Amino acid sequence: MDWLELKPEGLFCAPGAFYIDPLQPVAHAVITHGHSDHARPHHTHVTATPETLAIMHLRMGEGRAGHTRQPLHYGQVISVGDVQLWLAPAGHVLGSAQVVMEYRGQRAVVSGDYKRAPDPTCVLFEVVPCDLFVTEATFGLPVFRLPDPAHEIGKLLHDVRLFPERTHVVGCYALGKCQRLIALLRNAGYHDPLWLHGALLPMCRLYESLGIPLGELRSATVAQKAEMRGGIVLAPPSAIADRWARRLPDPVVCLASGWMHVRQRAKARGVELPLVISDHADWDALLETCRATGAKEIWVTHGREDALIYALGKMQIHGRALRLIGYEDEDEDVPEGGPA
Ligand SMILES: [Zn+2]
Ligand SMILES: [Zn+2]
Repeated sequence: MDWLELKPEGLFCAPGAFYIDPLQPVAHAVITHGHSDHARPHHTHVTATPETLAIMHLRMGEGRAGHTRQPLHYGQVISVGDVQLWLAPAGHVLGSAQVVMEYRGQRAVVSGDYKRAPDPTCVLFEVVPCDLFVTEATFGLPVFRLPDPAHEIGKLLHDVRLFPERTHVVGCYALGKCQRLIALLRNAGYHDPLWLHGALLPMCRLYESLGIPLGELRSATVAQKAEMRGGIVLAPPSAIADRWARRLPDPVVCLASGWMHVRQRAKARGVELPLVISDHADWDALLETCRATGAKEIWVTHGREDALIYALGKMQIHGRALRLIGYEDEDEDVPEGGPA
């Protein structure tokens, strides 16, 4: 497949003259989702789902989120140059999409970030059969077999009941993880008000305006200390171990991240209650997804490519590490203390 190529700006679809999640400003960018390593500012024309466009607008403000913006609903097919282009759900965060391109009888799919587990805040990942699949590999090692998020939420609620005098402060990334945690808590029957750090509220309000109900949310910043005793406070990962959290009544520091699977990471960050909840596919889900697409060729991004490429080889699938030719470097996907 020679019509999808790597350029310094990122992955380029030559017959459509557009880039996918480019790292530098370009004339036409197709954006998979709103996380800052994928959705960067100052592109001239941006194509993305309506939700991703709204998220970019909220995070970047008018002017930086693309000069012209083209909303594309899941499954809506458009022609860009000689390419048929459409978006399919990626199950990662609200609005997240895989980019599907068809050209001269070949189909390529760029996953962006994805997970297979159901998430009440976004549409479930859809397997799109293809010839070339570009996958992420954030958790591309066999040790990463992540638990059911409902189990992790159960752990948190058990601890909340066990220590009614303490305040549980949960670190979570502002886009996606925060809203998913809230929805999981609501699904588990927790309907008390949740207290939110000011940095998390605007994205929650946007999710609600886009049809994702989150129950009663209150600002932790203006709350009286005593009101939050026994409650659950959500904050960005950077805030849970600093002065901001110390003003809470006897805080129990929790962090929701796939990286909490690694005990030393939790310890190093002063996390008392690690919650292993990830918006990325784990090892089994990566392999199963690559197999399910039927692709004969898989390109791998986001760090841990080697183990995945080896495992794909055993399934007679040809893998290629994009990192080796400079497309993306793992650190770029580690905003605020680890991938969401
Ligand atoms: Zn992401
Ligand atoms: Zn990513």
